[in-house]
Amino acid sequence: MRKIFAGIALLALVAGLGASAQNRSASKGPNEDGTKPALIKIAGEGTLDSHAYQYLTELSDDVGARVTGSPQAQKAVEWGLAKMKAIGLENVHAEKWQLWRGWTRGTAEAEMLSPIRRPLHVDAMGWTGSTPAGGAEGDVVALNLFDLDGEMKNMSRFTGKIPLVVMRGEPNKSFIQLFAQFGDFLKAAGKAGVIAVIGGQGGGKSAGLNLTHTGILGFDADFAVPVVSMTAEDQGQLERYLARGLVPRVHFNVQNTFTSGPVESANVVGEIRGRENPEQVLVVGGHLDSWDLSEGSTDNGMGSSCVLGAADAIMRSGMKPRRTIRFVLFTGEEQGIDGSFAYVKQHQSEMANHLGSLILDNGQGPVRSFQLGGRDDLVEAFKQFAAAISYIREVKVDDKVEDGTDTLPFSMAGLPGINMDQDSPDYQYTHHSAADALEAVKPDVLAQDATLMALAAYWIADRPERFASPWSPEKTARMLIAQHEDAMLKAFGLWPKAFADIEKRNVSTE
Ligand SMILES: [Zn+2]
Repeated sequence: MRKIFAGIALLALVAGLGASAQNRSASKGPNEDGTKPALIKIAGEGTLDSHAYQYLTELSDDVGARVTGSPQAQKAVEWGLAKMKAIGLENVHAEKWQLWRGWTRGTAEAEMLSPIRRPLHVDAMGWTGSTPAGGAEGDVVALNLFDLDGEMKNMSRFTGKIPLVVMRGEPNKSFIQLFAQFGDFLKAAGKAGVIAVIGGQGGGKSAGLNLTHTGILGFDADFAVPVVSMTAEDQGQLERYLARGLVPRVHFNVQNTFTSGPVESANVVGEIRGRENPEQVLVVGGHLDSWDLSEGSTDNGMGSSCVLGAADAIMRSGMKPRRTIRFVLFTGEEQGIDGSFAYVKQHQSEMANHLGSLILDNGQGPVRSFQLGGRDDLVEAFKQFAAAISYIREVKVDDKVEDGTDTLPFSMAGLPGINMDQDSPDYQYTHHSAADALEAVKPDVLAQDATLMALAAYWIADRPERFASPWSPEKTARMLIAQHEDAMLKAFGLWPKAFADIEKRNVSTE
């Protein structure tokens, strides 16, 4: 789901260079802290004998699409458990959690009836509803995402119509607030008897040649009204008609199914136990669930196969880290980062012993930076690690919080939710689309990403000094506010009461 926030992320990019010098030993890197011989062995296994692409091929071809809560997702969980066991991880098990509601895609057909008659290419957005059986037809009307306040004053104007999301003028809110408000519109649209809404994730337009992009429209958000993603070519034509004052008429038949209640899902967990401090845990993760227009090879088969490839490279190196590396394949990321939120909740009593999490979920490209999830105190030390891997790849280090994937719950817990950010220019095409297939992934890039994950994981878990302990809620809340994450978290109801109380106290004492 990460990409919807990409625009905002760019604006919020703050160089985390303000790290304190700290004590010198805490800033030692692999060249000085004794971890380098092990890293050399792991790099050899990871680059010369990588199994990551083989894992991704199996996941793409033998499992395929795996929407959280579906039988295919259950198959993916079983596949993940079998892989972790075959790799030789310890304590391999599934950790169950409940998704608020299940959803299954049915058909999505659209036909333009006038001004010309032809089929339109659409796919339903996830967790959205259906037209009446057999479909319904109506006029297409523009819906300005940049003025939802004005649009929502008169919802009856959309009754029996097909709102098409356009962006006119200047936005009067941040994109994240617009995305949240779009959800409010969709609720009202359901009540107002709208036939269907044309607009992709966050109301955004499709990218690419004749591609649609599915996705969720909030965190754990479902809507009775059908919402579709339409190809850029078809949507562009409708927009041109509207601009000329013509009113296109379209017939929609969209059929999806919701479960009546919660459905079960599970995170897949396996460990390399620490040789000195097994109780201290670094989580290394990616999300196993995907959307269903293709195989989910880039989102997030890449992350899943990096996690398994990293585990495999470390195991085959024969090296044992000081502390435990816990490999986790999360589910429910696409519905609202649910699996990793569930993980943090289920492991609450153990969080003080966590060192952080290391996550990859930004497409098919090479790693370009490690974003330390709010922890500016760790930037200097991590730069020493980056220097040690510079012959494999030059990577940057900053303290940015990534809020669009499984890093977020860890950053909110005051831990470094480390995002392995990637240079993935083609991700805009494969993201949640029919092009998200194995063809989009280069084996050498995947092997390198998996190796960098293995090296970072091993270094964090093995260095003599403990890498990180959780910050207090107070310090964490302040950091999230400083990084402007509070607006998004509040807009989607994810700002914890503890943080709100801290904010209130701070205001009253100022
Ligand atoms: Zn993803």
